[in-house]
Amino acid sequence: MGRRHPVWLRLVRIRMFIGHVAVGYAGKTLAPRVSLGWLLLAATFLDVLFSLLLLFGAESVRIVPGGGRVMPLEFSYPISHSLIAAIGWSIVVGASWYVLRGDRAGAPILALAVLSHWVLDFVSHRQDMPLLADGPFVGLGLWDSKGGTMAVELAMFVPAVILYTRATTAKDRVGSAAHWGLVLVLTVLYFASIFGPPPPSERAMAIGNNVGIVFLIWAWWVDRHRPIVQGGRNEEAR
Ligand SMILES: [Zn+2]
Repeated sequence: MGRRHPVWLRLVRIRMFIGHVAVGYAGKTLAPRVSLGWLLLAATFLDVLFSLLLLFGAESVRIVPGGGRVMPLEFSYPISHSLIAAIGWSIVVGASWYVLRGDRAGAPILALAVLSHWVLDFVSHRQDMPLLADGPFVGLGLWDSKGGTMAVELAMFVPAVILYTRATTAKDRVGSAAHWGLVLVLTVLYFASIFGPPPPSERAMAIGNNVGIVFLIWAWWVDRHRPIVQGGRNEEAR
């Protein structure tokens, strides 16, 4: 592990997976009134929660470099990533949306997006996903294969971005430039995280993860400049 990597690459090594991002983009076709920012927050909700809990020491991760694995990490995350908790969080998110926005169509989509995260993590992670707070633990371990991970995630991400792009239309330069800019940055970070070095420390990872919030805000901003295509299921964006 003696090789030094450039600082920027070490810093961008945030845990960010475009399978979850794909769920957010594709969700727009099912919930046109919900901003892409909120859809992405729902699809990554368990990780956002985990990142905060990590920062405050309520959950933990250990970096164990080695092998050809996508993510050399061992997690302990019952509050954010047990199945029982994920079901609870999905109900909380869906119900909150319904209460705050009165959007009967969007609420179940957001709830499903939260739950989809657990399913995708179940496919990707090793057997460290608890069903209940302290087990039994499950996981299919797709991350053990970089090729397999990329095949699955890119097969989700590319069509999802196309769906979002076709369901919405840029009303100005921002709607176009910021949209494609975000797609580009997410793609670059994705490949950096697949081929880059492991995170320098657990602490750096906690901080890096939380910086990921920037992308949710960016997506929310993009969505404000990309109304739903007229004649679609529902014209009124947000
Ligand atoms: Zn996760």
